[in-house]
Amino acid sequence: MRLSDLGEFGLIDRIRKQVKGLSAGVVGIGDDAAVVPLSSGKYLLLTTDMLVEGVHFTLAMPARGIGHKAIASSVSDIAAMGGVPKYAVVSLAVPPSLPCPVVSQMYQGMIMAARKFGVEIVGGDTVKGQKVIINVALTGEVKKNEVVYRHGARAGDRIFVTGPLGRSLKSGRHLRFVPRVLESQYLVKRHKPTAMIDISDGLVADLGHILAESRVGAVIEGRAVPRRREASLKEALYDGEDFELLFTLSPSKAKGLEKHNKSPFRVYRIGEIVSEGEGLQMRTTGGLKRLKIKGYTHF
Ligand SMILES: [Mg+2]
Repeated sequence: MRLSDLGEFGLIDRIRKQVKGLSAGVVGIGDDAAVVPLSSGKYLLLTTDMLVEGVHFTLAMPARGIGHKAIASSVSDIAAMGGVPKYAVVSLAVPPSLPCPVVSQMYQGMIMAARKFGVEIVGGDTVKGQKVIINVALTGEVKKNEVVYRHGARAGDRIFVTGPLGRSLKSGRHLRFVPRVLESQYLVKRHKPTAMIDISDGLVADLGHILAESRVGAVIEGRAVPRRREASLKEALYDGEDFELLFTLSPSKAKGLEKHNKSPFRVYRIGEIVSEGEGLQMRTTGGLKRLKIKGYTHF
């Protein structure tokens, strides 16, 4: 069997089954970050992300933006767990022919993003490669009573996103986005989301991860999905790289969030969690339509 038959998520599932027998209290593969007990009141979060030239970026893109994205996308994964980012190690593969300024601009982008989002770059590795590859491993911390997984959504919960979606790659926003750490902190301290993920593969694909891990279905209101300027509904559903948070709240918490509307940022309610058998559906003027769970996958 080839990887293209297995697919990215099929591969991750296989690895997940191979890597088992973790010590008690550790939550491994299958969420935005791994969760490890740190002290009596806190968990350590661990996440790692690789950006590969030709797959995630090209050298025609601004090098600083590539550096920004390398840090910010990992920060977004920590935010998706309800945590705050802490320390990063950065590994870099570069071809010897690469001009030095390109590397220093990438690092400048990483250092500026790190400073902005409260991360310290404490180490890493550099090696020769045929293409540029940037790997960021990032730690975070979360209070035990504030951690949010993908697996907590229940039928009846309302589904929200933190901002408009679509055209992130086409507009260049994916090189300068702000990961939703402050929004995540506000939500976990006041509204206790039942499940949360950051939108990197696309709204439908990432909602699909919450549905699979929580063993539930969902109905999305097509009209309620917020779109970035010029984005079609299709682009908002499938494009990815938005790095907004997608989260679910119990009906009473949802009411609280919407009623008081004291939240310092805007949230958009886009639908409701239903039972697993109902799958993923979208309501449009034409009625309910089943959505195929697809988005960006690597294989
Ligand atoms: Mg993620």
